[in-house]
Amino acid sequence: MAKEELECSFCGRKKPETSLLIAGLDAHICDRCIEQAHGIVLEESKQAGNEELSSDLMLRKPLQIKAFLDEYIIGQEYTKKVMSVAVYNHYKRLLQPPSDDDIEIQKSNIIMVGETGTGKTLMAKTVARMLNVPLAIVDATVLTEAGYVGEDVESILTRLLQAADYNLEKAEKGIVFIDEIDKIARKSDNPSITRDVSGEGVQQALLKLLEGTVVNVPPKGGRKHPDQKFIEVNTEHILFIAGGAFDGIDKKISKRLNMAAMGYKAASSDDEVIDKDNLLQYIIPKDLKDFGLIPEIIGRLPVLTYMDPLDGKTLRAILTEPKNAIIKQYKKLFEMDEVEMSITDGALDFIVTKAIEYKLGARGLRSLCEEILTDAMFEMPSSKDKKLNVTKSYAEDKLNKTTLKKLKAVS
Ligand code: ADP
Repeated sequence: MAKEELECSFCGRKKPETSLLIAGLDAHICDRCIEQAHGIVLEESKQAGNEELSSDLMLRKPLQIKAFLDEYIIGQEYTKKVMSVAVYNHYKRLLQPPSDDDIEIQKSNIIMVGETGTGKTLMAKTVARMLNVPLAIVDATVLTEAGYVGEDVESILTRLLQAADYNLEKAEKGIVFIDEIDKIARKSDNPSITRDVSGEGVQQALLKLLEGTVVNVPPKGGRKHPDQKFIEVNTEHILFIAGGAFDGIDKKISKRLNMAAMGYKAASSDDEVIDKDNLLQYIIPKDLKDFGLIPEIIGRLPVLTYMDPLDGKTLRAILTEPKNAIIKQYKKLFEMDEVEMSITDGALDFIVTKAIEYKLGARGLRSLCEEILTDAMFEMPSSKDKKLNVTKSYAEDKLNKTTLKKLKAVS
């Protein structure tokens, strides 16, 4: 075949009409066709990615989402249920095909109120793990209004981009967990807050993000974008979950409940008993407003839920039952050194009692285990002894030692 007769087997262009003609076994392809084909490949993989996401998500109905949460989180039944529905609806909204019926499903951002260590972060983490979407955990206390010392609210999205490995598409479907949202409450309504981080200004700045907007985000240290100053991130499909302890909000709830009880005593015949040990279960958006969140923020976090305080029984279950329960983790660590670890019921009960005594909540369980097991973790990997049975007296002994050391350090 003469050279000038070569042509692209796809579009038929002769070699001189192309910038480049690449030869295959029996065919040739020109530069333009390569570009077109590349475009098709990209489009296809994008669709496949979306389908993957959609089938992944749509396969899980709220009941299944709840079942997944059950594997990792003990108790908190109400929040798990509310969360399952909110997450399900959020992703339904995300996957809805464009329609012309003018019904726009709004975002179901979530706010969780509950004491520290009751599993708020765990809840957000578990949802993100289930959906396989990136998660950014940010602390509201570090956020300040633009221009002040501290981080701008845009930094939240920087974190999300980082969590998504700078994959913008993934980040835009991710989850942001804003911890300690109560710390940016308006000061005037809440005299107990002494440190003013210009709470209201931060709340205002957060509004736009929660609602859905395009934000210019500095990628900060993003090596993949050396010559790009900002990345445009659309927050429309990002699910925001806020959490806070709202210390003292129980008093506001109690006050409201008492007033209501007085006003409607005649009307309510079946004198419902108020569970004073868990007042958070009666929380309504107005209580958040009284605490110092601005109404606009409350409106953009329409799903309000609460965490139950952790009692002894729950703490005990947290130690051993979740899929990655603390005790299971230690057993695995020991297994790596061929050490077989066991722990008695008495020792487990002892740890729970101490956690309650120290008012450490679930967070304390790990530090207690760490203190009890440190000696064994230090010695056993190089010891011939390959069995460790943690009894109550063993735990007591180890804990007394460390507490004594700390007492001595103070004196
Ligand atoms: P919060 O965000 O409410 O302060 P975290 O989610 O950080 O609390 O929980 C602190 C620790 O306690 C985590 O290690 C978590 O695994 C454990 N934990 C707390 N609540 C639960 C729960 N209900 N079920 C299982 N583990 C829990």
